[in-house]
Amino acid sequence: MATTFRMKSQVWIYQEEDFGVAVGTELQKQLHDRVLSYPRDAASIDGMLRSLNRSDIFIFISPRPRDAACRVINAGCCKIGCTFLPVIVDTESLIVGPLVQVPGTPCWECWNTRERANYHFADQRAALRNYYDQESCKSPIGYMPYLVGVAAGKLAGVLNNSRLFKEQLGRSWAINLWTREISQAAFVGRHACPHCGVHDLDGTIGLLFRYCR
Ligand SMILES: [Zn+2]
Repeated sequence: MATTFRMKSQVWIYQEEDFGVAVGTELQKQLHDRVLSYPRDAASIDGMLRSLNRSDIFIFISPRPRDAACRVINAGCCKIGCTFLPVIVDTESLIVGPLVQVPGTPCWECWNTRERANYHFADQRAALRNYYDQESCKSPIGYMPYLVGVAAGKLAGVLNNSRLFKEQLGRSWAINLWTREISQAAFVGRHACPHCGVHDLDGTIGLLFRYCR
């Protein structure tokens, strides 16, 4: 996978619920030379996307999966060419990633499609995620402080260190809340994805077909 590398200068952050605010607050303390930017209208992801430039990075933090929001942000960031990094808590894992930078990496839609395809209980996963997307859905009050520290520390490492940033491109990082087991995954883009568009048929399956003739 050919990846480009652009270390970003302006970091926008969109926080959901107490967990998101706590991670953002802790992250700011750990950033060496950057000040986080917040949306002027906190209720509007669209409004925030309109403020972004290609050189920016958009971090979205939520204590639960938010597919609808990530779908909108991913499409907007891919269109602009800015970087997208979601941070969510999914059932028993904190997931930082995927770090999306188009062109170069697969996008969040590709990652989500691969996740869904490899999940043992795909229908249940979809139903749960649809529930999480409802306006009425709220996470339990409070959060685990250690998890805030882990999320902020991981984010700060990626943002402060160009080597770690580069290593994270096109990858997701996860820690199990209970066992503390850490896992990382690179993922393959969907063929002809309309958002990242780098994994088209000519590049992979098309090439295979030509060799098989
Ligand atoms: Zn894609």
